[in-house]
Parts: sequence; C-alpha cells; structure tokens
Amino acid sequence: MRFEELNIITPIMKALKAEGYEAPTPIQEQAIPAILAGRDLLGCAQTGTGKTAAFTIPLLQILRRDKMDEKNQCAIKALILVPTRELAVQIGDSLSAYGRFTRIRHTVLFGGVSQAPQTKALKDGVEILVATPGRLLDLMGQGYIRLDQIKFFVLDEADRMLDMGFLRDVKKIMTKLPAEKQMLLFSATMPPEIKSMADNILSNPVKVEV
Ligand code: AMP
Repeated sequence: MRFEELNIITPIMKALKAEGYEAPTPIQEQAIPAILAGRDLLGCAQTGTGKTAAFTIPLLQILRRDKMDEKNQCAIKALILVPTRELAVQIGDSLSAYGRFTRIRHTVLFGGVSQAPQTKALKDGVEILVATPGRLLDLMGQGYIRLDQIKFFVLDEADRMLDMGFLRDVKKIMTKLPAEKQMLLFSATMPPEIKSMADNILSNPVKVEV
C-alpha cells in the first residue's frame, strides 16, 4: 500500500516525502483510516513499529481540516499523554516533522526542567499538547492549561504508565476532559489494569495489533 491510498492531505504527504517515507507500516495501514474515520482505537504495539506516525499523522490531518473550517480558534484540541520525557520529546519531533507544512502548533511538557519556556509556549497557543502526567497536573493546578476544547485524547505506552505508578494521575487528568472526544490507547502489553481501563474509556474501538 502507498500513503496516497490512505488519503493523506498534500501538506503532510510533502513532509512524509521529505522524511523519505515510501510506504505506511502495517500499524499505519490499519490505524490511519480508522482514526480519520473518527473511531476510537486500541493499539497493541511496541516502539519501532511506526506507532507514533500512526496517530500523529491522522491527528495533524483532522486538526488541519478543522482549522481551515473555523479559522482563528487556537485552543488545545489534542492531548497526548506519555510516561517519559524521552517519549514526549520523540513525539514532539514527529509532530514537527510531519506537521511542518500544516501550521498546526504543538508543545511538549515534562518535569525536571524550568517551567517558564513551557508556560510561554502555552500562552502563545498550541493545538496539540504532548505531556507527562506530573508536569501537566502541576501546570493545570497553576491555571495555565484549559482542556475543555479537547477533541482527541491519546494515551501512549499505557502499560509503562502503570509500571511507573502514573495511572492515578492519568485518571485524574481524564476527569478534566470533555466527555465527547476521540480516544486512542496504545500499549505494548495488556495487563488486566490496562485492559479494564480500555474497556471503560474506549467506545467500540478498532483494535490494531502488530
Ligand atoms: P516508532 O515506532 O513510532 O518509534 O517509529 C520507529 C521509527 O520508524 C521512527 O524512526 C520513524 O521515523 C520511522 N518510521 C515510521 N513510519 C515510517 C514509514 N512509514 N516509513 C519509514 N520509516 C518510518
């Protein structure tokens, strides 16, 4: 299969060509059409499978389409929660690469560093937020972040969230999100806690396993 067959819009196609991507990976083939169709998704996938592009590409595409419709809105529309700083940075880099011609703005939040550059980026306005749970809750508590316009919620490496003891924080953050939203959950393994969480939060998800 080719990316063109997945109906990827021109600005993103251009970026994928620049990255040297020729064809979608199996998880991308399955996940991109489902996400573009508005479905919830449960992805059982390890790193190295192309899972980051599998959700960042359709996310950028939908936000870009919405942006063309409603011009000057710049609220946080998508939240991507991750367990580690490294993963947050990696997803931020992917959004920069695939989204370079879309004018969709994002920022990355994680702990252990000064919050000043992060709060500045938030004040300037972003549509996609990539964050680790602790720093996100911290900045939410300080009133820097409104999540009432969220249309997408991505929980990446859910099993690692569990291992690192972040599940409580994740659940707390989820109570602040609008009820109506598209949800994507990725996990390399499916321990019972994650399975039951997926059953609870996802509605009729497309299941993708690679
Ligand atoms: P991930 O599983 O998201 O960590 O991605 C693993 C690596 O595969 C990253 O370095 C991506 O840049 C690369 N990658 C993702 N999708 C593709 C693709 N369709 N073609 C070539 N490389 C890709």
